[in-house]
Amino acid sequence: MKPAPFDLHRPTGLEEALTLLALHAETAKVIAGGQSLVPLMNLRMATPAILIDLGRIECLRGIALEGDRLVLGATLRQAQLLRDPLIAAHAPLLRAAARHIGHVQTRSRGTLGGSVAHADPAAELPVALIALDAMLTLRSGRGTRQLRARNFFEGALQTALAPDEILCSISVACAPAGTRAAFREMARRQGDFAFAAAAVQRDGRTGAVAAAIGGVLPAPHLCTGLEAAMAAGFDRPRIEAAMIAELTALGPMTDIYASGAYRARLAAILLAEALEEVLAHG
Ligand code: FAD
Repeated sequence: MKPAPFDLHRPTGLEEALTLLALHAETAKVIAGGQSLVPLMNLRMATPAILIDLGRIECLRGIALEGDRLVLGATLRQAQLLRDPLIAAHAPLLRAAARHIGHVQTRSRGTLGGSVAHADPAAELPVALIALDAMLTLRSGRGTRQLRARNFFEGALQTALAPDEILCSISVACAPAGTRAAFREMARRQGDFAFAAAAVQRDGRTGAVAAAIGGVLPAPHLCTGLEAAMAAGFDRPRIEAAMIAELTALGPMTDIYASGAYRARLAAILLAEALEEVLAHG
């Protein structure tokens, strides 16, 4: 199928985009890489009358070190997460997650901000971002606000983004030297959305472990029970049992591909494997 008719605007400045979005908040959508929005439009599941292309807005696409934080523009291509040296040095978990996103073709168009704003329950970047306790900067004609990624995802394809807001940047704390990151997922084929995914990072300075699960619940899930499960050290059966219980209590998703019980068990195994990887080097 083909999309319903729409007008395309290609602003070169953020203010211009925000003004357009404020004027047409109910009928307009912003488009970044188009790798999720265009398929939805082709299926007539999204019928925006106006598209506002973010692709020409320079200030949305950079990577910068600001103090002890790495600031990533929302229209950074997913492919850049795999090749940029600043990402490799300061945000290894994002790089590990990006490896699993779709295919070379989709990663070369798809953006970091688009993946976050689209909020597919099985998307890898949101899982990594909540493990990293990332901070999102959102702008509208009403002003600017910052929101923790942990408070942004509200359900399947549901976020705290207002209709007139643009996600402008995402910042994460730079990973100290010695930080270890691991991302694991299980999908039917390479490039498919995951049945379950696990993101784990061990801080090189404090040794603190942060972990999150994707693809199991409607929104990415921060593993709050992991610290208690690891209090007496790494005991794989105990950790898997604790994660299965934590996910089961929250109602894991069942669909034609997998039951909720299978997803919870799979996620616990993937998490334990990722943990073993980050703990293996002392
Ligand atoms: P778009 O499609 O342009 O937009 C998506 C949504 O986000 C729209 O609602 C749009 O209005 C909104 N939006 C975009 N940018 C902003 C912004 N800065 N501020 C506010 N709203 C914004 N993704 C995965 O995570 N894992 C996969 O394995 C995976 N496999 C894929 C396989 C295929 C074949 C395809 C086509 C896609 C796949 N994807 C996968 C999705 C892909 O990663 C998309 O790029 C991503 O989900 C959306 O990013 P985008 O830049 O293309 O956003």
